[in-house]
Amino acid sequence: MAGKATTPKFAKITPPSDGTPIRIAGDKRIIPDNPIIPVIEGDGIGPDIMRATRRVVDAAVQKAFGGQKRIVWFDVYAGELALARYDDILPADTIKAVKTYIVALKGPLTTPIGGGFRSLNVTMRQVMNLYACVRPVRYFQGVPAPVKHPERMNVVIFRENTEDVYAGIEWPKGSKEAKTVIKFLETKMKVKVRSDSGIGIKPISVTGTQRLVRKAIRHAIDHGLRSVTLVHKGNIMKYTEGAFRDWGYALAKKEFAAQTVTEAEVTSKYDGQVPAGKIVIKDRIADSMFQQVLLRPDEYDVLATPNLNGDYLSDACAAQVGGLGMAPGANISDHVALFEATHGTAPKYAGLDKVNPGSLILSAVMMLDYLNWGQPARLIEKALEKTIGEKIVTYDLARLMEGAREVSTSCYADRIIQNL
Ligand code: NAP
Repeated sequence: MAGKATTPKFAKITPPSDGTPIRIAGDKRIIPDNPIIPVIEGDGIGPDIMRATRRVVDAAVQKAFGGQKRIVWFDVYAGELALARYDDILPADTIKAVKTYIVALKGPLTTPIGGGFRSLNVTMRQVMNLYACVRPVRYFQGVPAPVKHPERMNVVIFRENTEDVYAGIEWPKGSKEAKTVIKFLETKMKVKVRSDSGIGIKPISVTGTQRLVRKAIRHAIDHGLRSVTLVHKGNIMKYTEGAFRDWGYALAKKEFAAQTVTEAEVTSKYDGQVPAGKIVIKDRIADSMFQQVLLRPDEYDVLATPNLNGDYLSDACAAQVGGLGMAPGANISDHVALFEATHGTAPKYAGLDKVNPGSLILSAVMMLDYLNWGQPARLIEKALEKTIGEKIVTYDLARLMEGAREVSTSCYADRIIQNL
């Protein structure tokens, strides 16, 4: 038996003594019965929704496992709370804690103006190499939605998180750097760019693409899904978005030949019938994909996208099922995973015990699934759906539903717990 691991040391936080770290062995995560999960409460409405989420998760885990398993939360800091404690909005303690304990839960964060960060959230993804932004989008019965059949959508979007125009390589109009690039393009590459242009660079690499597409295909395999669609604008941007498509297909062929078939092969080799047990790899041009999710959402399971397409698409899909305030998300590396609410800090509602904790609760559901704790995850989903079905909801849904009873964040959590 391995010796007892030493407790990692932090500057200003102390890990709980009654929990056990998640470990990686080979390519597997070893989940103890009492995993230590770092939690970043978040700014603005963060404390309200995090309190509600922790209560719901703890109650569901207790109900599912009768005390045999439990989460040991470990409070770590980022954003305004970290600034007060560390004089730094993203302390090394926090990054170390998330990397050490592998799985973490996060509320929304304010990027203080002048904090030296372009965006705190983007920075966290980059320093922890959380290269896949994963956003499942499905309909919850009873949620008011703008389309006739919101229940037809059930997709998981894998959005590349570290490249594309989000890489942050850009310079303002008139800057020394922009002028240098414009001159270089003109003299060396014989391309003319207007001298009063701002310049941004859009890098998309084989590495960034293939690790993302690999994750998307693995998800489809693990969950018995029918297809993975590569969404790109390769008809126009051939060597970035078009390459994303080509490298995605190449990866599927090289690493998943036994489990996948391309849409073209289904027609050319299999007379239009997908061979049993095979996942279809297909691609769609981004603008057409926005039509597809509206008109034929049930033909799509997993979408793999470069950064910017995925940003637009995940909000559009979430809005379509009426759930922008209830859309969960995670940013995931090979193993390290940060589960987070997809909305911001909604500062005008801070401390009012008013807003919908649904996005964070459903992110915690994703987290439970990541721990392979499916039982409490399903209990929470059902209880949430039941509570919405009873029309006991927070203000955001109440204003869209006839005959709803508006309740506070904490009362909503109470009702979900009663419905577990
Ligand atoms: P926001 O915080 O998402 O809030 C915009 C509006 O969305 C709110 O006024 C509210 O709408 C609604 N909303 C958001 N969360 C809700 C919830 N849980 N329940 C019900 N309604 C909710 O966007 P923002 O005002 O543009 O950004 C505020 C701050 O958040 C900024 O500092 C930004 O940098 C930060 N931010 C952080 C993250 C993150 O940490 N991942 C993401 C985005 C933004 P109504 O006014 O209609 O009620």
